[in-house]
Amino acid sequence: MKDRFAAILIRKDGDKQIAEDVQLSLSDLMEGDVVVRVSHSTVNYKDGLALTGRAPIARKFPMIPGIDLAGIVETSANPEFKPGDAVILNGYGLSETHYGGYAEYARVKGEWLVPLPPAFCAHDAMAIGTAGYTAMLCVLALEDAGLTPDKGPVAVTGAAGGVGSVAIAILARLGYTVIASTGRAEEEPYLKSLGAAEIIPRTELSGEPRMLGKERWAGAVDSVGSRTLANLIASAKYGGAVAACGLAGGMDLPTSVAPFILRGVWLLGIDSVQCPMPRRLEAWQRLATDLDMKKLQSMTHTIKLSGVREAAGDILAGRVRGRLVVEIP
Ligand code: NDP
Repeated sequence: MKDRFAAILIRKDGDKQIAEDVQLSLSDLMEGDVVVRVSHSTVNYKDGLALTGRAPIARKFPMIPGIDLAGIVETSANPEFKPGDAVILNGYGLSETHYGGYAEYARVKGEWLVPLPPAFCAHDAMAIGTAGYTAMLCVLALEDAGLTPDKGPVAVTGAAGGVGSVAIAILARLGYTVIASTGRAEEEPYLKSLGAAEIIPRTELSGEPRMLGKERWAGAVDSVGSRTLANLIASAKYGGAVAACGLAGGMDLPTSVAPFILRGVWLLGIDSVQCPMPRRLEAWQRLATDLDMKKLQSMTHTIKLSGVREAAGDILAGRVRGRLVVEIP
């Protein structure tokens, strides 16, 4: 084990938040019963928020950001894990109240860890990361609400982003007709290569919400929120379901009860951070069977820890397509 190792640390300087490269030692890490040698992490939208300070993700300072990590157990006082085990971790308090994945080592609670599914290497698991695992949680919730491919098409918003790209690939593999909504018309060939049948411009859903619109989709995966989510709900078919997981377009929801009480539409809230362990394991198991690995690779770019801060600005500006994996030296 190294004496000193590389990490990104964010700290407060008055009202300003500063993210910097630092060298730490194991004694600097937080409490936990398992030490993981981190090999990969990712950059999600929430990491962009945390690194730039645009939203108050970190609730303790200093903080190592990074909501995802994959690596090998180095030491363990937890009976469920032993040195050499390959593990992944999404969410829980990482980057909020507990040091996260942008460091060569992490000390965490064993109860947060998921054994790396045998279908994946660490790079694959982080190509999926929180965004992809959340896309799977959305699909599971839609299935629980009774959605099947014969009920009608499924809309995916923020389509060229991380959640959106993985959701399209999963839904297409499961036999759904996917309508992808994007602000980047130039990404049509990319979205079709993932399995989207139809592309609609973001503006079609971002206008003033109607109480009820034409019935267009039986299901939806939304990572945008605000008016987009309201319009998705208003145009859901009778008995349809909308999984809401994101806020890339805003945190508000200007809707009415009309779609719920006149069309029996379901609004399904999706949280990845505190999602119970049995559901997490189910999601990872389903990702192993329902996500085409070639499509996953085609939507993924790999960067180094030194590129994370630049990537944070890019993802918030909507310039990242698909998923970003961070290789930790
Ligand atoms: P990405 O940045 O990869 O994807 C977001 C996409 O949303 C963009 O690529 C863009 O897609 C679209 N978008 C961006 N800005 C706007 C805007 N102002 N109006 C409309 N659309 C916009 O982020 P992630 O996939 O990592 O995360 C997506 C969302 O889901 C985030 O809000 C994130 O916080 C949330 N999330 C929530 C989780 C949970 O536990 N509930 C877990 C994971 C993510 P395009 O260019 O195609 O239009």
